[in-house]
Amino acid sequence: MADNKDFYKMLGVDKNAKKEDIKKAYKKLAMQYHPDRAPEDKKIAYEEKFKEISEAASILGDDKKRQQYDQFGSQAFSGGAGPGASGFEGYDFSDVMSQFRSGSFGDFDDIFDHLFGGSGSRSQSSRGRRGSDLLYKLEITLEDAAKGTKKNIELNKLERCPDCHGKGATQFENCHHCQGSGYMKRTQRTPFGIFQQTGPCPYCHGHGELPQDSCKACGGESVIRKKKKIEVNIPAGIDENTRLRISGEGEIGDNNGPSGDLYIQVHISEHEYFTRKDNDLHISIPISFTQAVLGDEIEVPTIDGKAKLKIPPYTQTETIFRMKHKGIPSIHGHDQGDQMVKVHIEVPKKLSKKQLDLIKQIDEEKPSKSFIEKIFG
Ligand SMILES: [Zn+2]
Ligand SMILES: [Zn+2]
Repeated sequence: MADNKDFYKMLGVDKNAKKEDIKKAYKKLAMQYHPDRAPEDKKIAYEEKFKEISEAASILGDDKKRQQYDQFGSQAFSGGAGPGASGFEGYDFSDVMSQFRSGSFGDFDDIFDHLFGGSGSRSQSSRGRRGSDLLYKLEITLEDAAKGTKKNIELNKLERCPDCHGKGATQFENCHHCQGSGYMKRTQRTPFGIFQQTGPCPYCHGHGELPQDSCKACGGESVIRKKKKIEVNIPAGIDENTRLRISGEGEIGDNNGPSGDLYIQVHISEHEYFTRKDNDLHISIPISFTQAVLGDEIEVPTIDGKAKLKIPPYTQTETIFRMKHKGIPSIHGHDQGDQMVKVHIEVPKKLSKKQLDLIKQIDEEKPSKSFIEKIFG
């Protein structure tokens, strides 16, 4: 009986290593021991080492094989054990040497995926592509931006066909090419040699069954374009051109791949009275000459209803008053902007005779020197 090989030790990872770590460890070692990189006198040693780590990675990188290995040890995988042998085919390294190509590691990840996903679960065997992201432009009011809101949007996007659950057909029979197993043995030529491995059946794409009809709802396309309502949560304090990401609401992926994401780009429409600068709101309010002179308490609009503002006596036109915490809340939730109120004194357009006489009286009082008098004495 052959020795039980310690695949974990070969890759220098521990027994609880994640798949990602196994992949990393293998990549590092494979680059180090690539036979093309071996010094002249160490070709054989490098080659041996390379075979070892490739075998170890092929088993530890595959969840099912790793489980078998953890349970039964490497004997579970004595390749070429003859007809009836259980388990899977080991790597065929008989022609390895002549197949090594000088180290291009560019497509390393592809090679890993072939190595690692070989006879795993069916759903993994044919890899799906992620769907595209979608961008939706949404216009909201300044009030919505200040208070936060929920908006329902309707998208017309590709969805998995509900009638056939994305299979494109409703009737299936076992695939006769792979006897329904979903995978087939094949020979993989890579820069690292020939690998005899099991891969997804090319006829049924790893599903193990072949469609016998075509789904009427989607015409066999597996997807249909469908209107979908999505509720979008707009947080209080959102700023112009912010993009909100709604994970998984983009277009559907190919071949059971994950869906893309939906991005909501927010545009805040112009407000009749308010302009926004960061989280402060600016507004301009008319007051009368007498209010400016005598002082008053006036009501001003805020983004959240009305509020009182005190105008002190002798207020000059264009004076700006700051109303604390009447602006837009910070999107991070721990602060709020202010409202800046600029007052301007309105000159009346029409006055009664009595009013005009009173103003003439004020003028005759000449309470202070006019601007012209100040300059010319
Ligand atoms: Zn098949
Ligand atoms: Zn369908």
